Amino acid sequence: TKQIVLAARPNGTPILNDFRFEDIELDELQQGEVLLQGMYYSVDPYMRGRMNEGKSYVPPFELNKAIEGGVLATVLESKSDLFKTGDVVLGSLPWSEKMIASDKNLQKIESTVESLTYYLGILGMTGLTAYFGLMHIGKPKAGETVVVSGAAGAVGIVVGQIAKIHGARVIGIAGSDEKASLLKQEFGYDDVINYKTTGNIKNAIANLCPNGVDVYFDNVGGEISDAVIQNLNFHARIALCGQISLYNSTKIPLGPRIQPMLLTRSVLMQGFIISNFQKDFPEGIAQLSKWVNEGKLKFTETIIEGFDQLPAALLGLFKGENKGKMIVKA
Ligand code: NDP
Repeated sequence: TKQIVLAARPNGTPILNDFRFEDIELDELQQGEVLLQGMYYSVDPYMRGRMNEGKSYVPPFELNKAIEGGVLATVLESKSDLFKTGDVVLGSLPWSEKMIASDKNLQKIESTVESLTYYLGILGMTGLTAYFGLMHIGKPKAGETVVVSGAAGAVGIVVGQIAKIHGARVIGIAGSDEKASLLKQEFGYDDVINYKTTGNIKNAIANLCPNGVDVYFDNVGGEISDAVIQNLNFHARIALCGQISLYNSTKIPLGPRIQPMLLTRSVLMQGFIISNFQKDFPEGIAQLSKWVNEGKLKFTETIIEGFDQLPAALLGLFKGENKGKMIVKA
């Protein structure tokens, strides 16, 4: 079977040559294992961090070993009491067309084919990130103003809608006019700033948020966050979810750079990792599913066809090539 390994640790922005395709023979299936066929592969910004050396909250990928990420797969053969041939499972699995996995860390997915990929997005890691980050840290109240950076991505698209459900006014920041229109027309955003063309982002936010910003859901960090922070209200809350604008930096500027603002306005800024909320996942999935079924929460995915496209799809996240969740279909 074909697999994709980390060939080199990137220096700055990753390139396709940091990945290598290999043909491997799979071992014989042992008791407690399943043979899987990968169907849908999730590419996520945090994977960039795993390409670096050194400890983070997830261990780094090993050089010359398969990249690993969220994968939806079908069971081809089973020596496990937990799964049978034909079952669909979700797990953190190697970027391999077929793979052998222990049955221990696999989750069985019961779903119609149409909504299978939801388990990588709206009902999976990114949907839960939006839900818990906003509800536990942002805590938007009716009438408040919520700003979301990375608004057209997998997390951001969900954050804005949940803030709307709670009666907030929602302003997004995204990287193209097409994304801005999509967010306004399909996903209920009140207004959206295209950070690539708007010029002075701080002024653009001030214009669209005459009452100031009460909640900032930060997916990107850097200069966009500097601009939002300068518009924060007293007792504003920042849910520090991601810093994608810095993931490829070789030298990260020290920050936050707007401390006086955070201090004098009594701002709460809290980072989080979605696994902090693991014990509450069933509640989160139930709530997200309910909103999806009621038509209150919509979603979109960018599905790239072909296992071979995995590295390019991952790099595409850093060029804004996706709307909603970026997924590769093998
Ligand atoms: P997205 O679907 O949002 O994809 C990434 C998007 O980021 C791109 O489409 C692009 O959109 C934008 N982007 C890329 N580079 C830059 C840049 N330099 N400046 C501004 N925007 C940029 O990814 P996710 O929704 O999966 O993740 C969003 C954020 O949330 C990431 O930072 C991720 O690391 C974080 N995250 C955190 C989790 C946690 O547990 N704390 C869990 C999951 C995600 P555009 O066209 O707008 O530039």
